[in-house]
Amino acid sequence: MEENQLMESGVSELNSNAFFIDPVRILNRSYTRFRVSPSTYYSRFFDSLNSAQSPKASEDSRKGKRKRKKKIQSLNEREQIADRRHQEVKPFLLKAHEALLEATDLLKVLRNLRNDGCSVGECKELSQESSELSFMELGGVWQAPLCEIVLNYQQDDKTFQNGGFPLAQSIEQKVTPVFNNLVANEGSYDIEAELFNHKYIIPKRSCFYMSDMQQIDSLIPAGSDCGFNLIVIDPPWENGSARQKVRYPTLPNRYFLSLPVKQLCHTSGALVALWVTNREKLRDFVENDLFPKWGVTYAASFYWLKVKANGMLTGELDLFHHRPYECLLLGYCDGKDTHSGNSTRLNPIPDNRVFISVPGDYSRKPPIGELLLDYVPGSMPARCVELFAREMIAGWTSWGNEPLHFQDSRYFVSK
Ligand code: SAM
Repeated sequence: MEENQLMESGVSELNSNAFFIDPVRILNRSYTRFRVSPSTYYSRFFDSLNSAQSPKASEDSRKGKRKRKKKIQSLNEREQIADRRHQEVKPFLLKAHEALLEATDLLKVLRNLRNDGCSVGECKELSQESSELSFMELGGVWQAPLCEIVLNYQQDDKTFQNGGFPLAQSIEQKVTPVFNNLVANEGSYDIEAELFNHKYIIPKRSCFYMSDMQQIDSLIPAGSDCGFNLIVIDPPWENGSARQKVRYPTLPNRYFLSLPVKQLCHTSGALVALWVTNREKLRDFVENDLFPKWGVTYAASFYWLKVKANGMLTGELDLFHHRPYECLLLGYCDGKDTHSGNSTRLNPIPDNRVFISVPGDYSRKPPIGELLLDYVPGSMPARCVELFAREMIAGWTSWGNEPLHFQDSRYFVSK
């Protein structure tokens, strides 16, 4: 039955603490007129070789590699701590992965996620445009304050009748600065937007603020009860390894100390979810410097386990610097009302929860924000923000220097 759950919601429970997710289906909840294109989302890990190979065959080849790798170099002190952390979480990851490999019907669905719902020729790719706009370059020029985005609101919103076809169509345009400005689509339908001959799809009830970190204070709410109850943060951490390819600028850790997390927090408090790499130096910095500075108290860790289209892990679990999983640290930030007795009782966050999915583009995280809503303080609907976002989600504010990146129409098909 796991495959039915997946088809309906994009989330399938493998066991009480492990879930398989299809980010495309989850993201599609934000759209009415368009759909996220599975073939552009799943740009990797679906090549014919790895999807044709059976889980058993690739497991055997991994065992071979593991044998070769056994003569492991000695680890320094920090690496030993990282290894202990890894050994602690490994049983949860293995159990989750085993549950996926046992779900044979789900594995069949998984293999086809890239072609999902689109028979050849049925889905119309929206964009033939091969280049993407570089928002970082655009935002850095002196003309940036003059750059405007055109939002096209279709007036047929209420006239989708006669089997879904609009009776008449008129477009109302709104033109507004694209940088250092809160740009919102408050309607219940997604809309198309234009910027320098590029098209972007803006989800229903969503907004973005595109700026450098120096302007992030503009997001701090004027009214004290207008803060956010859920704050997801995926910082551009420095990599450490010069060899690793980076597609965006990174910042030294100390810069993130100045993120105004406390000020962004709602008076009834916030759940803060921070993506971290597996490097021990970073984990140490987050625990001892960053969370205390932000006023965040650690609560639990979730893991994102990455698999290929054939269900196998994207890399060896024990390979030191290239683990096939990433960690989301969860903590609470108190708001002014947190201790006043007005706050609602929260569900306890389960520790070591595992989400499995096939990764999308480089460094793109699965949209698990809404799977955190059960643990968010304050009244519903929660006010949610993603910091350093590269995409938009219905009901969320997306902030970063390129929140429109994955909104480019090349990532969508029309329904
Ligand atoms: N969560 C994103 C996703 O799933 O696609 C990935 C975020 S990526 C790790 C970090 C983002 O921070 C990149 O989009 C990068 O351009 C942005 N960034 C880097 N330096 C920045 C700065 N000074 N101000 C604002 N954003 C910045």
